[in-house]
Amino acid sequence: MNRGIGAWVTKRAFLQGDSKAFVAGERTFTYADADRRTDQLASALAGLGVRRGDRVAALMVNSVEFLETLLACAKLGAIMVPINVRLAAMEVGFILGDSGADVLVFNGQFTDIVRGALTEPGVRVRHTVQVGDGGYEDGLAYDELLASGPADFAAADVAGTDTAMLMYTSGTTGRPKGAMLTHDNLLWNAINVLGTEHPLSSRDVTVTVAPMFHIGGLGVHSLPLLYVGGTNVILPNFDPVGTLTAMAEHRATVQFMVPAMWVAITQVPNFGSYDLSSLELAMGGGAPCPLPMIEFLNERGVPFIEGFGMTETAPLVSILDSAHARSKAGSIGRVAMHVEARIVDDGDRDVPTNTVGELVLRGPNIFAGYWMRPEATAEAFRNGWFHTGDLGRMDEEGYITLVDRKKDMIISGGENVYPIEVEQVLFKHPKVADAAVVGGPDPRWGERVVAVVVPDPAAGRDPAPEELVTWCRERLAHFKCPREVHFVDALPRNATGKLLKTVLREKYAGVTDGVVVR
Ligand code: ATP
Ligand code: MG
Repeated sequence: MNRGIGAWVTKRAFLQGDSKAFVAGERTFTYADADRRTDQLASALAGLGVRRGDRVAALMVNSVEFLETLLACAKLGAIMVPINVRLAAMEVGFILGDSGADVLVFNGQFTDIVRGALTEPGVRVRHTVQVGDGGYEDGLAYDELLASGPADFAAADVAGTDTAMLMYTSGTTGRPKGAMLTHDNLLWNAINVLGTEHPLSSRDVTVTVAPMFHIGGLGVHSLPLLYVGGTNVILPNFDPVGTLTAMAEHRATVQFMVPAMWVAITQVPNFGSYDLSSLELAMGGGAPCPLPMIEFLNERGVPFIEGFGMTETAPLVSILDSAHARSKAGSIGRVAMHVEARIVDDGDRDVPTNTVGELVLRGPNIFAGYWMRPEATAEAFRNGWFHTGDLGRMDEEGYITLVDRKKDMIISGGENVYPIEVEQVLFKHPKVADAAVVGGPDPRWGERVVAVVVPDPAAGRDPAPEELVTWCRERLAHFKCPREVHFVDALPRNATGKLLKTVLREKYAGVTDGVVVR
């Protein structure tokens, strides 16, 4: 029996074959189409030698082909490895090598990256499959490959515990790690998503514009909608006007995007002229969602929920329900239906209510481990709970508030400093455009607070380091205030837009002895 996510589409084709599964530009595919095409692709991949457990990498923008590749792999029991399309050739090569992918499916526009990536050490890709034009001569053409596959594919034996995807983490705290997400993980995540305040059904429509190569873009609505037989309208790239237009035109009912996308949407000048009356639920997550943006949507009749998730949790962990957006602002809400959470100290003991500790989780949506990293896996799963590496506290009602990542916390003179708190204060300074706070070595205090600041060019004159320190001292305890300040033109961020604090620590922290340096 096939217990994988590929079987979802087969069942939907049986129940409601004429319903729309995918809409992309001018192309529409029903569930019957989706089932037939993914059978064909699965047969064709099998013809290339892909077997259960083999890895098929994908360097693809959001597209029908992306979802078809995932579903075809699922029907075969093969493992899809989605790769962030914003990575450099070397980084793509690392993931190809690390995952041991035999096949790479990619959009023609990434031909140069692919050429470079394939020359990286450890890469053993045997077949490349190109979607659309791009000029890569050596590979197979996706459409031809798919058409060559007989449609009478007999679904392979796939267990719920088989890995469906190797999804790499964003690489915010180090090299990306391949999280093994099983078919069951994806099923339970779908059930968790169904159990939020807007239960999904076959009538639901979403515009999938958050990147599918991150679990947020795939796991929040795309896959749960395939489970219930709803419609994915697929946009390859994000642009605020295009997204609003698609949401209005296709009568989107549910919509997940990362906060930066929502902010951009709400800044479209004639936002009110787009008919979003069909929208029953807007959702953001992956990073904190600013309250003004949530209120902007609420004032226009759109309920908004914030989600917290991780690659390792497929992704949904917790939800801040729309009714508490204001009263519990800053919180990531309460855990989803089948997720258990605790806040623990370093000895894995529960800390009291409202006390900061590490968030640890348990549930059927939590991944099977890091690919080829038994030590990292053991470290993450201490005492049967998944250690998120995020620090937070839980209130009497179970609402969780994150304070920072454990790896980023600074311990100065025995006091804990959460960099995000200091950054929030620096952001408010009129001459600061962007800021990051990291720990640097300090002979006396163990660690010292180091601020790396991007001055706001609009402010005319750069702030003096002392000015920023004084600003912080007026608003924060002394031990939390920067003792070292560096000015830079831009902060290093990864392709997801998350701050790379490891780079900042290496590059700036403690490179001079000065208390306040320029
Ligand atoms: P890596 O694990 O490789 O260092 P990463 O943790 O950034 O990278 P992801 O799995 O994409 O990779 O991101 C999960 C993290 O994103 C969480 O652990 C948390 O720190 C952050 N996050 C997700 N949602 C929210 C949210 N709503 N508010 C605040 N932080 C969030
Ligand atoms: Mg992480």
